[in-house]
Amino acid sequence: MVTTHNLGFPRIGAGRELKFALEAYWKGQSSRDELNSLGAQLRQRHWKNQSGLDFVPVGDFSFYDHILDMSFTLGNLPERVRGFQGEALDNYFRVARGRSVSQDACCGVQAGEMTKWFDTNYHYIVPEFAATTEFALDASRLLAQLAEARAQGINVKPVIIGPVTYLWIGKTKDGSDKLALLERLLPVYGELLNLLAAHGVEWVQIDEPVLVTELDTEWRHALTLAYHHLKTSRVKLLLATYFGQLQDNLHLACTLPVAGIHLDAINAQSEVTQLADLLPSYKVLSLGVVNGRNIWKTDLDATLDWLQPVHHRLGDRLWIAPSCSLLHVPVDLSGERKLDPEIRSWLAFALQKLDELKILAAALNQGRAAVAAELEDNRAAIAARRASARVNNPAVKAALAGITPASGRRKSVYAVRARQQAALLNLPAYPTTTIGSFPQTAEIRLARSRFKSGELDEAGYKVAMQAEIARCVHEQEALELDVLVHGEPERNDMVEYFGEQLDGYAFSQFGWVQSYGSRCVKPPILFGDISRPKAMTVEWIKYAQSLTAKPMKGMLTGPVTILNWSFVRDDQPRSVSCRQIALAIRAEVLDLEKAGVRVIQIDEAALREGLPLRKAQWRQYLDWAVDAFRIAANGVQDDTQIHTHMCYSEFNDIMAAIADMDADVITIETSRSDMELLDAFDGFKYPNEIGPGVYDIHSPNIPTREHIVQLMRRAEARIPAERLWVNPDCGLKTRQWAEVIPALRNMVAAARQLRTI
Ligand code: GLN
Ligand code: ZN
Repeated sequence: MVTTHNLGFPRIGAGRELKFALEAYWKGQSSRDELNSLGAQLRQRHWKNQSGLDFVPVGDFSFYDHILDMSFTLGNLPERVRGFQGEALDNYFRVARGRSVSQDACCGVQAGEMTKWFDTNYHYIVPEFAATTEFALDASRLLAQLAEARAQGINVKPVIIGPVTYLWIGKTKDGSDKLALLERLLPVYGELLNLLAAHGVEWVQIDEPVLVTELDTEWRHALTLAYHHLKTSRVKLLLATYFGQLQDNLHLACTLPVAGIHLDAINAQSEVTQLADLLPSYKVLSLGVVNGRNIWKTDLDATLDWLQPVHHRLGDRLWIAPSCSLLHVPVDLSGERKLDPEIRSWLAFALQKLDELKILAAALNQGRAAVAAELEDNRAAIAARRASARVNNPAVKAALAGITPASGRRKSVYAVRARQQAALLNLPAYPTTTIGSFPQTAEIRLARSRFKSGELDEAGYKVAMQAEIARCVHEQEALELDVLVHGEPERNDMVEYFGEQLDGYAFSQFGWVQSYGSRCVKPPILFGDISRPKAMTVEWIKYAQSLTAKPMKGMLTGPVTILNWSFVRDDQPRSVSCRQIALAIRAEVLDLEKAGVRVIQIDEAALREGLPLRKAQWRQYLDWAVDAFRIAANGVQDDTQIHTHMCYSEFNDIMAAIADMDADVITIETSRSDMELLDAFDGFKYPNEIGPGVYDIHSPNIPTREHIVQLMRRAEARIPAERLWVNPDCGLKTRQWAEVIPALRNMVAAARQLRTI
């Protein structure tokens, strides 16, 4: 018999109940007891949702982040919160977000740093280490949840982060070697496992996703050391890997003294046979056969075709599960009433994925005939999707075939273009601009929601947005900025806005996925060939341009960012979908140019985060990503100026690719790194223009003129002054007008001062 299990379940709730409960608690509108009881309700509901599986995860629920939970379990609290007495939950929120409830004025601390969990869009709170870090077990959370699950009659499998991954994803604050802490950490893990054994636990899932990354000898050795230390514990360990292939860590993974291994067979199907060959016969092999990262139905026939022989070989030693925790997908498709029924019939959210898992198990255990009807339904849905005219658009395929190397090349090199652009735009030295958005005021949000609910008609909405655009333009003129923007009032989100207007995209109503804490995102669903039925931004930009004699920037989101922030179809390479988006954006760029817009910005905020987990695969990704950007951007005349924007600060390792995009101007986030980031551009001799952000828009602080001048002086030490722009480091959407006006006033004054010397 094959064993079924799950690695983790989304905790936010199908109706985002956890989000609302957290936010009410933080605002002081509900009590700790109410929050705790909502947590317990959600856990119960989710365990019930998973009933029918042989093992159900326990400990995957979290009030904010499961890595932060692990830090608390290991007694690894940052020094700055140790002094606070009182409820552990409040301290937990202090680390997570700087304070507990909003009245917690006395006890605010610096929030823990947050970063992306491997290549997902989930953010965890980075564990903090120092040479002096000591660990001490606090198993209360896990034991309490274990008891709750047992009371519900659940066959439990506690889930924890493994010691090596825990160290790997953390940061030392004093420059010490975090691996040196392993020796101190392992006894605490040992204690935890024995405690779980004492509570009657048979299996523990221990997550070591580091095994899908490139590891040096020391880290590989750490894995060996750790699992040899833990092998004396009285539970069975299921070592879980996910998000990729094991590759050169495959042998290591097989030799670790654990009772079983989980492999992400969606990303690493090619390694299944080898793993089955190498794995000692007393170990269990768990295969992740349902994709935990996307929202498509599994092709059950195709899966069974390769899985059945593996089952024959392994018999009871085979377990099956989703490829990774279902944290990364929405909860339940059945609430989606507005989704087009045809598209809906191709999808599976977390609950539907667990149903698929059960069908697969039944087919393996009892033969396909036992689930003939379910398989037939699945077959029909898969076939319908494959053949659907909504997915396949021959015109898009033909347009893609028409792309030539020349499509991605400007007519002249940057030096030639720069002269023509200077002649056309006639900008001063140190030109000033902003990144695109201006404050999204309550009025803008109200107008949008009234428009969505039908209370405001299209004409009324247009008038309201034009009024906002006019306000933005007038403010920028008063500030005497050099290159203006329209302010993006009509955009709720920089990807959704374009997705909604492109053919080949669908939108769910409740397809929320946790990004961090109470923050959720609802990625648009890219289901088919992408095309642009009509211009998407031209009318707004033309209107904005009509209000001023200064250059108005056209503002677009780039193809790579649109792709990386969507659920993407799995029936063709991502690179192909990206090229299709690139062609749609290219058409928009050319329409803007035709309408007289001569400065066009194409944001690629998410280019970096698409990098594969293994460096060896970076080249390939960057090649197609840069290629897509070039196709989108480079069809314009030499004197049209292309800008791009990236809001992060690590460029060192991708500098060649950034230069290869060949944008005339790139604006980046630098204000928090004191321009050190520009070293990468300097070292590489980056040839085009750069706007290093001089105003940290993530903070309410108003930068002074002196500070901005100082930052720009540092920039000049690295980049020739004639290629520098002066701008904030990202869009101003989340700020208030009252902050933005004085900040930009200082920025313009700083540029003036720079010009005089
Ligand atoms: N143009 C967008 C804005 O200004 C860019 C946002 C981003 O880079 N995240 O909001
Ligand atoms: Zn940005």
